[in-house]
Amino acid sequence: MNEGVLIGGLAERLFDTLREQSFDGVGITRECYTDGETAALRLIEAEARRLGLEIAWDAGANLWATFPGSEPELPAVACGSHLDSVPQGGNFDGAAGVIAGLLAIAKLKEEGFRPRRSIRLLALRGEESAFYGQAYLGSLAMFGKLGAADLAATNVASGRTLGEAMASVGIDTARVERGEPLIDPKSLACWLELHIEQGPVLIARDMPAAIVTGIRGNLRHRAVQCLGEAGHSGAVPRWLRHDAFFATAELITRLDRHWRTLLERGRDLVLTSGIVGTDPAEHAMARIPGKLTFSLDIRSQSPETLEAFYDLFLSECEGIADERGVRFELGRRVDAAPGKMDEGLMTLMRAQLREMGQPDEPIPSGAGHDAAVFANAGVPAGMIFVRNANGSHNPREAMEMSDFHVGAEVLRRSLRELAA
Ligand SMILES: [Zn+2]
Repeated sequence: MNEGVLIGGLAERLFDTLREQSFDGVGITRECYTDGETAALRLIEAEARRLGLEIAWDAGANLWATFPGSEPELPAVACGSHLDSVPQGGNFDGAAGVIAGLLAIAKLKEEGFRPRRSIRLLALRGEESAFYGQAYLGSLAMFGKLGAADLAATNVASGRTLGEAMASVGIDTARVERGEPLIDPKSLACWLELHIEQGPVLIARDMPAAIVTGIRGNLRHRAVQCLGEAGHSGAVPRWLRHDAFFATAELITRLDRHWRTLLERGRDLVLTSGIVGTDPAEHAMARIPGKLTFSLDIRSQSPETLEAFYDLFLSECEGIADERGVRFELGRRVDAAPGKMDEGLMTLMRAQLREMGQPDEPIPSGAGHDAAVFANAGVPAGMIFVRNANGSHNPREAMEMSDFHVGAEVLRRSLRELAA
């Protein structure tokens, strides 16, 4: 396809500028609700203005760029993704979906397409859980699904609360705290999100892009504490010990066994304890640890499996606490519901892949995405994954631009069908 002066090299240029703006010396850092994230949104805003799109900011400080339809009162066709990143992350996680949406709309505009429904690009904030322990902050706030407890969560590094961070970029946190929806879900006909794949499946199957079938939800505890009793490693016999580490090790071993059993029964489940530690201020080789803190991240495509496994976790905590004379303090449980992708949108997008002569093999998403929040708010959602090497949430994530353009073209064709 011939690209005009307005959009030739548009995506490449935006990725490059974003990288320059947010390089931290190791990778890319665009922390949610900070100036770094705002600068990324402003970059997209400026480009969207140049392309003649209508700009609006919602009360959650997310950016909307609209290509108005001839019947703008109809629910709009929306697309986009998030612009924040984890610390020292990659440049494509999130940004690929926003840039693909902008490129698709720019091409539709340039080819003279007159949409009936408005086509709206959304650049969201706060998708990553890295800073406040809760993912999808931007889209949850938008649909009125955050509350006081979420706003009180503190930043792992600065100690600042989420509410303070949100207020610093101009969000009316009183509305967020009340759980007031900041947009009407009925104003959206659907949500299409392109995202890099964060697992190895597309590389392994040699496919540039794939349509997503569903998104795993999760149940998480950021910091469970196991409390036992500290003591001298040589002086306390086994029967008098209340070792917080041994108790936690037994808990994880039992959970691993339950996990295997559920997999053998064909259930979808993954389990991770990514942060584990005794307190460096008091731990020692010769000291029985009286306290240990660990995180727990349980994921599944099935809400039933999540709850069933969570019940097992609670009952194992109780059993081990009794047997070993320790206590588990769980802290706050944070949930993200699994997201089912819309069948009609899947069918439409898969057809575009095949018409383009591309392989079409849909895959599930292990990682979470804003599309799950849209789906659970009643907005039909669909996702396109683009092949990406070296995983994600690290500076080595690598997407080939030729693969990106395959995904962006699926998006353009689908938007055109849906808005006509
Ligand atoms: Zn992402």
